[in-house]
Amino acid sequence: MKIPALLFLTASFVHLIIPPAFSQQITKPEDTEVWDPEPPEVAPGDYTTASAPSDAIILFDGSGLSAWQKPQFKAESATVEIISYTVKGIEPDYEHKPADWDVIDGEMVIKQLTGAIETKQAFGDMQLHIEWMTPYAEGKKGQGYSNSGIFLMNFYEIQVLNSYENRTYSNGQAGSIYKQHIPLVNACRKPGDWQVYDIIFKAPVFDEEGSLKSPARITAFHNGVLIHNNVKLKGPTVYIGTPKYVAHPAKLPLRLQDHGDPVRYRNIWVREL
Ligand code: MG
Repeated sequence: MKIPALLFLTASFVHLIIPPAFSQQITKPEDTEVWDPEPPEVAPGDYTTASAPSDAIILFDGSGLSAWQKPQFKAESATVEIISYTVKGIEPDYEHKPADWDVIDGEMVIKQLTGAIETKQAFGDMQLHIEWMTPYAEGKKGQGYSNSGIFLMNFYEIQVLNSYENRTYSNGQAGSIYKQHIPLVNACRKPGDWQVYDIIFKAPVFDEEGSLKSPARITAFHNGVLIHNNVKLKGPTVYIGTPKYVAHPAKLPLRLQDHGDPVRYRNIWVREL
């Protein structure tokens, strides 16, 4: 079904365009791709999993998707709609539906082209442990090779992608804070191998007028290797244009992106900070 897939992917990109009111300048997607420097490759050690500590909130242990649901927006039409709700106070006209991705052998598998899923619980500052696997896919390349993403607070994406012998723009490869920060190194394992992100996220803070008091910050490890060291985020993830903060609640769901590829997740837990 090539045409629906194309339409979906187009829509999934369009949703990341911030409307003029929230963007300093609308440009082409290529304008915000940064190809240099290319992060040096680092072969990670054997760290592939970590059982949850006693104070963690378990988001996925292989037994089902009870902690997850479909977001209150259509498919992948996320950022613009969420900003509309947040800024204009418009209530979404969608009911939450149960998460419909597959669980196979204790692994969460993206049901391609059905849209994202998000946690029922909202989070602000957190320590997140999440394991993911990009399947081998003959002939795929660049951003099209097993793309997904972890959206902290629904707005801030850490890229999930196969970046093992698969060059793309550095600020869009695995471990990038999409189009904002290049990972310090490329610690990717090959397709089919399980990988780990450990992320420490500090939520942005807004004053009562909605002005930014302090930006979001991220420290992250990929397979146990530091890839971001307390970096400041510029605003919500956008595909085209310049990120700009919009005031939002202190806690929002964690969202996993469906970019049309059967990426897998397992062993997801959070410690609230
Ligand atoms: Mg992505």
